[in-house]
Amino acid sequence: MVIVMDFSSKHLWIFDVDNTLIKDVEHPEPFPDALALWNALMKKGRTLALLTNTGRLSARQIHGAVASAGFDVTVKNTFSAGAAAAAYVHNRFPGARCFVISEGGATEDFIARGLDVTNNPPIDYVAVGADRGLTFQRLNFATKMVHQGAPLLCISGSRDYPGVYLGHEDIYIGEGSIVAAIEHATGVKAIAVRKPLPEIVIETVKTLGFKINDAVIVGDNPASDIAGGKAAGIATILVRRNPDDIIPFDADGMDMAPDLEVDSLQEVIEML
Ligand SMILES: [Mg+2]
Repeated sequence: MVIVMDFSSKHLWIFDVDNTLIKDVEHPEPFPDALALWNALMKKGRTLALLTNTGRLSARQIHGAVASAGFDVTVKNTFSAGAAAAAYVHNRFPGARCFVISEGGATEDFIARGLDVTNNPPIDYVAVGADRGLTFQRLNFATKMVHQGAPLLCISGSRDYPGVYLGHEDIYIGEGSIVAAIEHATGVKAIAVRKPLPEIVIETVKTLGFKINDAVIVGDNPASDIAGGKAAGIATILVRRNPDDIIPFDADGMDMAPDLEVDSLQEVIEML
């Protein structure tokens, strides 16, 4: 007998953003099936939240992109990789002095968490997000601080990603590649703060005031959304999207089998 999970009883629905709700944050075109499921859940009075691995934009900026695509969501319920990294540091060292490589998004998330973002030693944590304006001087300083003992955080971990910068549409090297340079130079291994790290999924559920067994995550990526959701102990739904738009992540032998797999999120509406 196949036991089908009862999704209709779940009160917190956490959605991945890129390639699940919208194409990506720089091209915020909604997927119609996602918008239909979102509105059906809203009608039922469910709590809806976003959890994205995007680290180059702040939670506020990601919220703006998703809201512009027609999804009714609050900034408070928007969790970026930068916000997750800030929570990770805050939980270990409130008010830590952090050197942050970012285009501004992660910096905003760190300041919002009450961390001390600074360019001067002593540095307690080095956190690295994508930064298309990164200078040698900042990369070298980050390396020095890690050499001197500051833990190295990788905010998300894309090797590269499509985007628009100073008006140019291109593929850009991501934070994973910048972190690889610092790891190579120091011999220190970075902590990757992103899905599938279960801690950030659990943190999101707790921050919103729900229990683990009352939450669902919906995403397109087995190695990030599903592996992270399963390891956190929440229900998981995989939506099959364009495979070329699935960003590769290292799930390192984690369980990537979703509780439900669908071609369209319309199928989930029928289960509510
Ligand atoms: Mg995605």
